[in-house]
Amino acid sequence: MRVSEITFDESGKVRLTVEIPETEAFVTTHAPHMPRILFKMFPYLAAQRCFNDQGNSFRREAMATEIPHLFEHLLLEVQKQVRRGIYAPAAISGETEWNWSIDPRGRFHVTVGYDNEIVALASIRLAERIINSLDSKDITLIDVDREVRRLRELAKASRRFIPPPRGGGEVDGDTEADYVDTVSA
Ligand SMILES: [Zn+2]
Repeated sequence: MRVSEITFDESGKVRLTVEIPETEAFVTTHAPHMPRILFKMFPYLAAQRCFNDQGNSFRREAMATEIPHLFEHLLLEVQKQVRRGIYAPAAISGETEWNWSIDPRGRFHVTVGYDNEIVALASIRLAERIINSLDSKDITLIDVDREVRRLRELAKASRRFIPPPRGGGEVDGDTEADYVDTVSA
């Protein structure tokens, strides 16, 4: 999985283009270890709210969903841990959508709220690294607590230089996406 494009917009959303090559699994049904390892690494991840067509809990949904949707929830979770006590406690939301009648097969669009561009960029790269390490022993080399601590330091240090975007904490009413998710701080 590769995040090939990152665009910050004025309304407090960062828009990501995510590509999965044909040789890799698109869905967790073919990679059940991915959500399983993530739920161990991030104990609160399974409890996230998830708006999906079946009305499943995220714990259940994660076992049979598109990998970029799992990535979206991971990115929300990383940001949630990083922003605690540093940024306003407003919820941040995320969406995952795709349309392969327009886009090439394997392309997804993930949109998430953020507080600070620098922290968001570092969180995106961390979440991407985690997802891509789940298939190898590299995952044991990632110390989540240490990574989150470093991101929190980055958030505190950069906060005074970068004001949060307007409307970053708001959940909009867009239900066009395939998944629309929210986490509270
Ligand atoms: Zn979801």
